[in-house]
Amino acid sequence: MRFIASDGLPRLLERLREDGAEVWAPRVVRDTLNTVLFSPWSEGDEIETGAYSTLSAKQLVLPATERLFAYRYRLTAEGEKIEIEAAGPGMHAGETVVFGARACDAKALGVLDALFLSTPGQSYNDPHYRTRRAGLTVITLACTTCDSACFCSSFGAGPAETAGSDLILYPVGGGYLAEGFSDRGRELAALDIFEDSSQEKPALAETAVLELAGLEQKLLDIFDDLDFWRGATEQCLSCGYCTYACPTCHCFNIFDEMQGDRDGERCRSWDACMFYTYTLETSGHNPRPEIAHRYRNRMGHKFSYYPANQGEILCTGCGRCIRGCPAGVDIREVLKAAAARPATPGGALQQETES
Ligand code: SF4
Ligand code: SF4
Repeated sequence: MRFIASDGLPRLLERLREDGAEVWAPRVVRDTLNTVLFSPWSEGDEIETGAYSTLSAKQLVLPATERLFAYRYRLTAEGEKIEIEAAGPGMHAGETVVFGARACDAKALGVLDALFLSTPGQSYNDPHYRTRRAGLTVITLACTTCDSACFCSSFGAGPAETAGSDLILYPVGGGYLAEGFSDRGRELAALDIFEDSSQEKPALAETAVLELAGLEQKLLDIFDDLDFWRGATEQCLSCGYCTYACPTCHCFNIFDEMQGDRDGERCRSWDACMFYTYTLETSGHNPRPEIAHRYRNRMGHKFSYYPANQGEILCTGCGRCIRGCPAGVDIREVLKAAAARPATPGGALQQETES
């Protein structure tokens, strides 16, 4: 096992910057009411090693807004032509290091990878995402404590999860034990800023564990129980915060920013299934007009349809949607209430096909 002293962390990050990497770390952002956010780091900046970033690290692979390409109409001798200029991945396209991710954040990147990168038998391949992800190094801080919103132990290894992390730092007296989980992580642990250590890894946090047996089917069973969904969303404002803060939510919208009458830029930005306009059709019809319909879709997608289709639950138990919901909606209470429903023999039957 390798060890890095606490005062060696800035030296490590500065060395990565000198090697050309863009370094992001959890920092207090003064102009957003002292919120802790993953933010660009440079020498002298303080890092919040004890606080959770309000937003996840997904912005480094899936920016909130990005240009995809620009288009221009041109009159040529052969007639009118459209010129397309690809934008490329732009933000975070080079070497990027995110320091201070948690196990739930790193795991979520793996969940996004399964969607945005080609896998056998599937054809998804997002070139912008691929470029950013290939250049991203994830240095995770292992959690030896947690807060009351954390429930990552409900899904897999919880705080001991290693998926998605290149290097994990375990807090011990005076610094951190370091263990690499990829070639890049092992390369970092071999740097001379680290030293060999025979210390034992610390005990990791014990978060809440929800009893969610049969949830995938039970969410289908209560699909038509609007009283359940209206009760679950009585306080919900439909603000969409939970989707933006979530490390696994990935819905996006594609739209054109016009420049003049016909030229423009095609852009992509995060969307949120909790917004009324998310499913609003051009005709004016909205298949999910109530908050209850939209929240039902959010829960069904995360814990039933997506796992059934893709084999992954779209939640790592990071607790962000609980900590930040302005109305106090607690996803764990809804999950527990759904899981506590008696199983319906034969299962149910209606499933939304879109996400
Ligand atoms: S953050 Fe809370 S209030 Fe806002 S949409 Fe999500 S559940 Fe509703
Ligand atoms: S649904 Fe909530 S707890 Fe689960 S990963 Fe998203 S923000 Fe975290």
